Amino acid sequence: MKAYALFTLLLATTISTPMAVAQTTSEIDAHIAAAKTAAGLDYRATFVNLCFPTPFPGGPRGAAALLTPRPAPDRGIWYASPYQVFDNLYWLGTRQHSSWALKTSAGLIIVDTNFAWATQPEILDGLAKLKLDARDIKYVILSHAHGDHDQGVATLQSKFGTKVVMGGPDWDTTLQRAPDVAGGVPKRGPGDIAVGPEGTKVTLGDTTVDVIFTPGHSPGTLSYVFPVKDKGKTVMVAYSGGTLTGAFGTDGKRWDEYIDSQKRIARAASAAGASVILSNHSEYDNAYTKARLVAVKREVGEGNPFISTPQSVQDYFTVMEECATAAKLRNGAK
Ligand SMILES: [Zn+2]
Repeated sequence: MKAYALFTLLLATTISTPMAVAQTTSEIDAHIAAAKTAAGLDYRATFVNLCFPTPFPGGPRGAAALLTPRPAPDRGIWYASPYQVFDNLYWLGTRQHSSWALKTSAGLIIVDTNFAWATQPEILDGLAKLKLDARDIKYVILSHAHGDHDQGVATLQSKFGTKVVMGGPDWDTTLQRAPDVAGGVPKRGPGDIAVGPEGTKVTLGDTTVDVIFTPGHSPGTLSYVFPVKDKGKTVMVAYSGGTLTGAFGTDGKRWDEYIDSQKRIARAASAAGASVILSNHSEYDNAYTKARLVAVKREVGEGNPFISTPQSVQDYFTVMEECATAAKLRNGAK
């Protein structure tokens, strides 16, 4: 009886598998096609990197690989001048990674802090070049605790008493780091904020950043919606805090968490009417190119290069959601 049952099961499996595979393949293709349409020409890098990820030999490029202190690479491959990109938003990035300064009526909020070797030339010297005072930094909000975005935070905190906002799970892993990691370890004290699933709002003076909990890229990834001014007119920004899906494998819960997070930030962006998409990698939002374009005189009818449309912002999150759904299916995750 047992042998018969097993035979029946094997037979059923043999018969059904090719069809199931064909169905899964066409489903994957449909999600990739949806992502490709949403990506258009604007979000090609996000589409390619998420829909066709390249496996990293020797394990995922994660927090662990970025903890070892390293000297700055050759300045000729990363240095970028700082730029004011909106009335109250300043880009302090390298050609690859972005930090931002949001100016409020009660001081500065820094969003993401880049590698430790970029703190002085890009954030501190950048603020000085833009005639902003680093002593006015009241908050640093970190999208997630990976070295390309968080290594500068301990320096800003110890120099200026800056309050640090991070997703709760990312705070917890950060506090477990050895003291000699790149950039050092920030301290979590009163006034620092560990954001949970409900998200939070960070208000400084006249400006409120709506912090949305979007786990997936890291367990505590944060994304944001906040207002900026373009020649006096309010424009809403959606900031995508973490992009790559990494080694989720067959862990369906992690894929679903990531996909749900994209829906959550997309809803918040839609509710706010966000027409600007920002990221922490220039590869995804073209911040390096757009920041330099802002400095060029606008012709009649030309707007700020960072402003697109609410639909385009939604398209960005559609790329992320559809590519992740395709990758989940490809990995056989349930
Ligand atoms: Zn990361």
